[in-house]
Amino acid sequence: MVRQIVIVGGGTAGWMTAAALARKLSGTRANIRLIESAEIGTVGVGEATLPQIREFNRMLDIDEADLMAQTSATIKLGIEFRDWGKAGDHYVHPFGVHGEPIGPVDFHHHWVRENARGRAEDFGSYCLAIEAARHQRFDLPPENPASLLHAYTYAFQFDASLYAAFLADYATARGVDRIEGKVIAVDSDGETGFIQSVMLESGQQISGELFIDCSGFRGLLIEQEMATGFADWSDYLPCNRAFAVPCKIADPVGPFTRSTARSAGWQWRIPLQHRIGNGHVYCDRYISDQDAVDLLMKNLEGDPIAEPKQLFFRTGKREKLWNRNCVAIGLSGGFLEPLESTSIDLIQSGILNLIALFPEKQCAASDVDEYNRLMDLEYDRVRDFLMLHYVLNQRDEPFWRDMREMEWPTSLGEKIEAFKRRGIVPQYDHGLFQPASWLSVFIGQNLLPETCDPRVDAISVADRTNQLEHIRRTIDNRVGQMSGHLAFLEKYRATYSGAAEDAA
Ligand SMILES: Cc1cc2nc3c(=O)[nH]c(=O)nc-3n(C[C@H](O)[C@H](O)[C@H](O)COP(=O)(O)OP(=O)(O)OC[C@H]3O[C@@H](n4cnc5c(N)ncnc54)[C@H](O)[C@@H]3O)c2cc1C
Repeated sequence: MVRQIVIVGGGTAGWMTAAALARKLSGTRANIRLIESAEIGTVGVGEATLPQIREFNRMLDIDEADLMAQTSATIKLGIEFRDWGKAGDHYVHPFGVHGEPIGPVDFHHHWVRENARGRAEDFGSYCLAIEAARHQRFDLPPENPASLLHAYTYAFQFDASLYAAFLADYATARGVDRIEGKVIAVDSDGETGFIQSVMLESGQQISGELFIDCSGFRGLLIEQEMATGFADWSDYLPCNRAFAVPCKIADPVGPFTRSTARSAGWQWRIPLQHRIGNGHVYCDRYISDQDAVDLLMKNLEGDPIAEPKQLFFRTGKREKLWNRNCVAIGLSGGFLEPLESTSIDLIQSGILNLIALFPEKQCAASDVDEYNRLMDLEYDRVRDFLMLHYVLNQRDEPFWRDMREMEWPTSLGEKIEAFKRRGIVPQYDHGLFQPASWLSVFIGQNLLPETCDPRVDAISVADRTNQLEHIRRTIDNRVGQMSGHLAFLEKYRATYSGAAEDAA
């Protein structure tokens, strides 16, 4: 087994990797070193997460209430999309399901039928996570949901640099060796191309058997040293710049992220306990930097508390995320823009797949190929889901017209066609975004199926109407009993053991 592991980079990717390896390799005599450079720093954005992060924290035995208190976290029940279909539209992509099957047929088919007769409420009213978000309420989901109406989950909006710092303490307490310094040279074996060591500015040489590249967009090992190649997806996802700026809280913070479409991109709003994170993601072919930053600053709800920071990126991924004895995790591996908060989740998948296929020193080609196959699937599926938001728009600006008219990957075209024809929703074993996610965007952006499952007619119209009304009322009642979001945060904070010390 590999024993000498070197992680280059101490951003969210580096410290998540170090913490997970320290936990999962404990007792194996593995030696884990992480190199980071304060002079270079981290990308410094990335505040919204997906529910899967809770499994990661559980794997590390992290007390969630403690983590939330230390990272200024709020609850996230989903993302509200404003103006994405056409100006004035809004819908929520929730972390939960809509309704429940009626008879043998999935809920959305019944909703489509009732909606066509003008007898259904808006689709979101049949989803507990959405209604709770709209009313700014939250309670932990029951462990064993008594019914589908309780089937929701949640993620966090947090300060990602505090999360990295939290994990750095966790990892170093479990034996990870933290080395401050700038890598200025890489030494690889002339024959195999395997990296043997990296050299720091101080002259220190650090050798290893497995190198994990968490060096951010620059891809110090995977690209600058190994020239692995980059699959450029900017034809599919052309946004390539962002401005980010935090502001003061003006309105009470709700348990959801917001994404508002703008003339050549979109703006995020991510509420934390002590500030709101904002950013404008845009494509520089359609709007100037000055107009982009002006648009962002004009649309803040509170006073800015820092200067806006500009970020540059190119969407896509490395041709291989694992090449020889180097695995790229985080921004060094790829970036697909932050529309659905997928980056930290892709870091998590990279780590979990690495642990599952943890290599011997020679890094068998079959393990490497399997890792790359699994990660390619993850990236492809995220790309298709992100594109869905863009291609289903009905807006008028040149950017949006071009997004609608672009060539789609076949995998996305097939999914849209299947839904449009018969309401069939994508379902797969591996990768992010299950039917509830696809449904919320299809319907939220006004794509309704031409026909639905013929078995809906096995239920009488009266029964269907009653059932829909029953679901809606049950959700209303349940939401009415939930705690306010801020009251929940207060209550939850008091449940972890260090709360009393913090208060002192
Ligand atoms: C505009 C924008 C918005 C985003 N929003 C979200 C979001 O809401 N949710 C989400 O999940 N993700 C989001 N992301 C992505 C998220 O920021 C990253 O996935 C996450 O921060 C991980 O970054 P990283 O650790 O890979 O890289 P970085 O944070 O860049 O860290 C790189 C590390 O490598 C070190 N390093 C680099 N070169 C050297 C060297 N030569 N020697 C030594 N050390 C070196 C640096 O010092 C640093 O420690 C967003 C990204 C962007 C651009």
